[in-house]
Amino acid sequence: MKKSYDIAVIGGGASGLAAAITAARRAKGVSVAVFEKKDRTGKKLSATGNGRCNISNTGCEDLEQVIDFFGSVGIALRSEEEGRLYPYSEEAGEVTSILTACALSEGVEINLNSEITGMEAEPSGGFLLFVGEKSFFARNVLLASGGKSYAALGTTGDGYRFAKKLGHSVRQLIPALTAVEVVEDLTSLKGLRTKAKVSLYKNGQMIFSEKGEVQFRDDSISGICVMNMSRYIRKDSCCEIRINTVADFREEEISAMLEGRFAIRGLTAEEALKTLVKKPLAKYALRTAGIDAEKKAAIFLDKEEGIQKLSCLKRSLSDMRFKVKGLKGWNEAQVTSGGVLLSEVDGMTMESKLNPGLFFSGEVLDYDGPCGGYNLHHAWLTGIRAGKAMAEKCTESIR
Ligand SMILES: Cc1cc2nc3c(=O)[nH]c(=O)nc-3n(C[C@H](O)[C@H](O)[C@H](O)COP(=O)(O)OP(=O)(O)OC[C@H]3O[C@@H](n4cnc5c(N)ncnc54)[C@H](O)[C@@H]3O)c2cc1C
Repeated sequence: MKKSYDIAVIGGGASGLAAAITAARRAKGVSVAVFEKKDRTGKKLSATGNGRCNISNTGCEDLEQVIDFFGSVGIALRSEEEGRLYPYSEEAGEVTSILTACALSEGVEINLNSEITGMEAEPSGGFLLFVGEKSFFARNVLLASGGKSYAALGTTGDGYRFAKKLGHSVRQLIPALTAVEVVEDLTSLKGLRTKAKVSLYKNGQMIFSEKGEVQFRDDSISGICVMNMSRYIRKDSCCEIRINTVADFREEEISAMLEGRFAIRGLTAEEALKTLVKKPLAKYALRTAGIDAEKKAAIFLDKEEGIQKLSCLKRSLSDMRFKVKGLKGWNEAQVTSGGVLLSEVDGMTMESKLNPGLFFSGEVLDYDGPCGGYNLHHAWLTGIRAGKAMAEKCTESIR
């Protein structure tokens, strides 16, 4: 006879573990199994937040549910700037290991190296799941297989395929929260990190703006504010990035500052920008403004041509422009934009409106949030909701 489970969770990542723990706790005696294709659970979870795991954010919806869940598994949180929440030890790998231990101690069966390769709905209810040649039956299935980025961590977009086969619609998948490639050659700025305000313009209209640290590479721009901006860039749109590296000053303050600096006798133009911007940026801005970095700064205050160049310099510091070429692809994107349409899923139980007994959680759904803990929060919340609903369904059918 085929092995059968009350609840099968496809994917032992953030939302799958949260769902399995929640379901097993609420429905005692119900069989819950997690199928994880990699040799460890939560490989992506362990890599989050630069290894620190930005678990959630105080600005997220239904925060209490997620905080309560972490309290119930003994994971203490600390909050940092902009409402970011981290595990107290700031060790992402420890979050994975505690959640895995918790699932096991609740009686969840965790199957590693178990890639679900196929899935079929049974006419009389429930689903057949395939792990290579082997197949088994599950009354309820949670698709918690994550997105499509960082394939090496296990996420290759399998869930979208399964969902489509079961009749669900999947909104176009696009790599999001990623570096942005630009047309201009950034070799001279490569490696530079600077605080700035970045804005995205489409057809001359600003559609996004955020302050933060900008990181330059030879062909692209990165940093949290740029990654957030990447969510607004589409392949077919013609966009421009404008960077203000002196955004904390008003226009007249910048003019006064530059004039004051350029009036100091003996300084070269490059030296006149010292302490205002970093050297590679000073050189880049001077070159863009047509100013020889080695020339004495004071000469630019004399002639009209020099004064014009000074105003060009002000613009190149406060309004550097770069044409968007594209986004860095799936190997670098932190999340997937697009996915299973939310309108086809009950937002409270996470159950499919098309296939009773099929549930969804996390990144496989058509949701992507900004950096700052929003994506993990969505994974926990939808996992907890699905876990509760699956447990309820199983206990109802026992009664
Ligand atoms: C480098 C990086 C850093 C990030 N940092 C943050 C952060 O600090 N804060 C934040 O909010 N978000 C962060 N994210 C995003 C966040 O990690 C994801 O949004 C979140 O993990 C999604 O949870 P999930 O449960 O949907 O999927 P995942 O956590 O990706 O788990 C899916 C699991 O399913 C498994 N799987 C896939 N297909 C199958 C299959 N066919 N059979 C069996 N198993 C399968 C995978 O191996 C994987 O373990 C980061 C992402 C990356 C890549």
